[in-house]
Amino acid sequence: MKVIVADYSGFCFGVERAIKITSDTLDNNMNKKCIYTLGPLIHNQQVVNELQDAGVKVMNDLDNLEDNSIIIIRSHGVSKDVYDIIDKKNIEIIDATCPFVKKIQNIVKKYRAKGYTIVIIGNSDHPEVIGINGWCDNQAYVVKTKDDIEKIPSVHKLCIVVQTTMPTGLYDELCDIIEKKAKQTVKFNTICSATMDRQKSARSLAKNVDAVVVIGGYHSSNTQKLVDICKNEKPNTTFHIETAEELPIDILKNYKAIGITAGASTPGWIIDEVVEKLNDLSIN
Ligand code: SF4
Repeated sequence: MKVIVADYSGFCFGVERAIKITSDTLDNNMNKKCIYTLGPLIHNQQVVNELQDAGVKVMNDLDNLEDNSIIIIRSHGVSKDVYDIIDKKNIEIIDATCPFVKKIQNIVKKYRAKGYTIVIIGNSDHPEVIGINGWCDNQAYVVKTKDDIEKIPSVHKLCIVVQTTMPTGLYDELCDIIEKKAKQTVKFNTICSATMDRQKSARSLAKNVDAVVVIGGYHSSNTQKLVDICKNEKPNTTFHIETAEELPIDILKNYKAIGITAGASTPGWIIDEVVEKLNDLSIN
């Protein structure tokens, strides 16, 4: 059996940066302040558990934060309101918002101020999108399908941005229709390069193997996109797992070539474990 790992897989720049910022915060916490992340730092339970063991608590709301504590904003970013609320408390903010996400927040803020109607192509319930919308007074139209576009009224000026993890094909397809809603449109393809690289290499890998294993959190949006892309090529032999224990060994042992890809929140050691388990299969 041949096991091939996609050229681009696992931790992206933004996630690596958020983890580094968090571990630096732990190291520099001389006054032993309570450290929180607002929501799980990344969509990977194993990493979140490790951080929890090191003393980083996950907090989902702002009401119960201990006074004189530290809160880390994760790579997805948050709305302006959240900064305003924390600013009023005696709490230090450490901002690990990915610079690619920060860029989108700045775009929607700027164009909202110039009178543009904002459209975000993405999942309305994803934290990144909720955060971006919070930088344009929560007035953006969030669309993910052609049907969603019907709710956008005809306007004079439109500004289109896209969630960093959306597929490029969907962005192009929806932009063509959305642009017809306005006399003047500015559009920004804000899909991040890490996402594009991972999606491209997952697609080309899936074409050339018998089965694909996609490793990543079940709640991770970018992992789900990789699953969809691989399923497009290998509808019956794409498997989504979170850990090596979940590998469907009895099925996979029947294939000659297996591809491995992993979402942006999947640590290298989990990828290594999966590869090792599959390589052992070829030896036995
Ligand atoms: S997927 Fe892209 S935008 Fe999101 S954290 Fe990673 S590098 Fe940043």
